[in-house]
Amino acid sequence: MYKIAVLPGDGIGVEIVPEAIKALQAIGEKFGHEFQFTEALIGGAAYDAVGHPLPESTLAACRESDAVLLGAIGGPKWEELPVHLRPEVGALLPLRKELGLYANLRPCMLFPSLIQASTLKEEVIAGVDLMVIRELTGGLYFGEKSREATADGGQKATDILSYSTYEIERIVRFAYETARKRRHKLCSVDKANVIETSRLWRETVTELAKEYPDVETSHMYVDNCSMQLIRNPKQFDVIVTENMFGDILTDEASMLTGSIGMLPSASIGGQVGVYEPSHGSAPDIAGQSKANPLATILSAAMMLRYSFNMEKEATVIEQAVHQVMEDGYRTPDLMEAGKNLVNTIQMGDLVKQSILKG
Ligand code: NAD
Repeated sequence: MYKIAVLPGDGIGVEIVPEAIKALQAIGEKFGHEFQFTEALIGGAAYDAVGHPLPESTLAACRESDAVLLGAIGGPKWEELPVHLRPEVGALLPLRKELGLYANLRPCMLFPSLIQASTLKEEVIAGVDLMVIRELTGGLYFGEKSREATADGGQKATDILSYSTYEIERIVRFAYETARKRRHKLCSVDKANVIETSRLWRETVTELAKEYPDVETSHMYVDNCSMQLIRNPKQFDVIVTENMFGDILTDEASMLTGSIGMLPSASIGGQVGVYEPSHGSAPDIAGQSKANPLATILSAAMMLRYSFNMEKEATVIEQAVHQVMEDGYRTPDLMEAGKNLVNTIQMGDLVKQSILKG
């Protein structure tokens, strides 16, 4: 029996998570696995119910599970709360810290049937298959923050950016091991021409590279990488980078796949992994059954692969998604002429049927 904590969260989170559960249940049915789902509150929904975006009971439910399926959190309703109670700062960051999730994996693979959905040219994106590994519990987002008054009547805000050798080594080793299972290429992204933490980052990668002679190592400045990702994304296999650079680059990379609604993620490193789509709570489309559930369904596939060691089952989900795309079904974010428009629930049902058939 596999215990899964389910945290739908806010906005489209409550619409897409049930579709991923359907996919997992279909896998359970097909392969004879038993998944037990325990739902808990997080984000704005938790704040509204109990006054905190990450209640202790939610953290306990996560710790007692084998993996966590997360939707998305946040929205305009909670943006004016004091910083420590805002869903992202008060729930997402502490959840990552508490569960020791230092590695965020974001695979970016283009489904051939979606080539037309991307805003980029076919010859640029055909065959893209890269993995961004983002450091998740350090850097600017976790650094000390402060404000002080200035003599001219204004204010000065400070965010501290720091990384230790230990933190860098841990994520870079993880990235090397991942590259070894792929095409043996690692590109480390930093801003070593300007930032001190990036200089330590680059020195550390250069040292570690000696232990991985079978992996081709390269270094790239983050500004160049943001350009190369859309100029020639096929040059990349594994990209490893610090927290904020990874946050920004992965949103950019999502456009290679056609929609941010296609980009799954896994956050691992501790006892319990968290699996969630790379996008947010999309308040602009929430409650309309327009959200694409595929990033969440593909995140469930990553859960099977990374937390439960079920490679075959993970592949069945990915192939089911591929089949539904091939059959021409699209949520509004991917819609193009000649395709069949479906809503969130219909897309989930199609994937489920395809899993059971496949
Ligand atoms: P967003 O990712 O929620 O939305 C950006 C755009 O992409 C929107 O136009 C949205 O409609 C679209 N989109 C996102 N997911 C989609 C899907 N599955 N299907 C179709 N379209 C989709 O980012 P945002 O608008 O910058 O942020 C909205 C809220 O989400 C904010 O409160 C933000 O802080 C929060 N957020 C949460 C997470 C998280 O929970 N991990 C991540 C990013 C942003």
